[in-house]
Amino acid sequence: MKAYLSGNAACGDGGWPRTAQGGPFYLSLAFFSRILDDPMRFGMPQGLFRAESDPECGFGCIAHNLMHYCGKGYKMKRALITGITGQDGSFLAELLLGRGYEVHGIIRRVAMEVPEHRLWRLRHIMDKLILHAASLESFASIFRVFNLVQPDECYHLAAQSFVSYSFEDEFSTINTNINGTHYVLAAIKEVCPNCGFYFAGSSEMFGNAEQTPQNEHTPFFPRSSYGISKLGGFHLTRNYREAYGVHAASGILFNHESPRRGLEFVTRKVCHTAARIKLGLAKELRVGNLEARRDWGYAGDYVQAMWLMLQQDSPDDFVIATGETHSVKDLIELAFSHLHLDWKDWVVVDKRLYRPSEIHELRGDYSKARKQLGWEPGMSFEELTRTMVDQDFEQLKNARS
Ligand code: GDP
Repeated sequence: MKAYLSGNAACGDGGWPRTAQGGPFYLSLAFFSRILDDPMRFGMPQGLFRAESDPECGFGCIAHNLMHYCGKGYKMKRALITGITGQDGSFLAELLLGRGYEVHGIIRRVAMEVPEHRLWRLRHIMDKLILHAASLESFASIFRVFNLVQPDECYHLAAQSFVSYSFEDEFSTINTNINGTHYVLAAIKEVCPNCGFYFAGSSEMFGNAEQTPQNEHTPFFPRSSYGISKLGGFHLTRNYREAYGVHAASGILFNHESPRRGLEFVTRKVCHTAARIKLGLAKELRVGNLEARRDWGYAGDYVQAMWLMLQQDSPDDFVIATGETHSVKDLIELAFSHLHLDWKDWVVVDKRLYRPSEIHELRGDYSKARKQLGWEPGMSFEELTRTMVDQDFEQLKNARS
């Protein structure tokens, strides 16, 4: 069994091992044996981690107890992020580390088996994180992690989040997204009722809303099982706030992108493919509906709003958006022209990529967040698109040479 453990953030100069590259390290059985044999040498009182450790958890648990002990003198706030390996999870982990938090993440066990593939967004901060393997499909595993970590704040970002895929597998989207949220909330209620809870709601809950722009009072009308599942999580969050007094807030986040976005989403797909075309690595870009309009912001700005929501005296729901929309065609034109390409020479519209029920336009009104959280979007759509194209172009060019 291997355990990921930070050597510096919480433990100060406690003489912890680190890899020469400063990257993640694995604590071996041999290393734990050395601590157990001679705990004082490592500044640990005898019995502390033996008494607290959970045999089912193996060495990850012992590692956690060591971290817990080391962190005590620093009075760090402890955050637990579900979905830490995703775009938002990685930005949020950076933000929280920068604010002096002890940051824990829940990941799937399979991600630990191929860390270079699944944990690529966390590579640069791996040695500062504490990762726990658990599944959103298992209440027992979620409960165990909460019991162990006892977080002050929980950011629940994990979900099946690709709308197109939700049409292919409605059942797993709904099961994972609704039950997973319910498990997390129930664990908080039982284990750490004072923990702040952030739920990653989505503009997809509005669907084809009758009113534009959409705000916190706009009626929901989801158009996909993803939107329905997020709406279920949103109502659960509100219910735990009202019924059990959990400090539970929901962000209704409109589309937010970055170079860390998955390739299945249209922004990254367009920017990445445009860069490949420029480098002679692709011959066309196949897309669906060019006329769909979205309110696209920068993910790095949006995680600030998540954190701000949990710093409020009373929990609430907030729309987070830019208030501007652009079409998929605008996105394509901008990305291709940035590389001095005429998009009409390269783009093929493929009806198979249309959705069975499309949302034509989503635009958010974030005035409540501006007023109550002091939050504003930072990066413009133009800058965001250019940044994404540039980063993909550089990476592909370097990989080729
Ligand atoms: P979503 O808003 O969460 O569904 O984010 P996406 O990036 O997946 O899609 C945004 C919009 O782009 C939707 O209206 C899609 O129908 C539209 N779109 C057009 N072509 C494509 C495509 O090739 N891939 C994706 N993912 N979306 C596309």
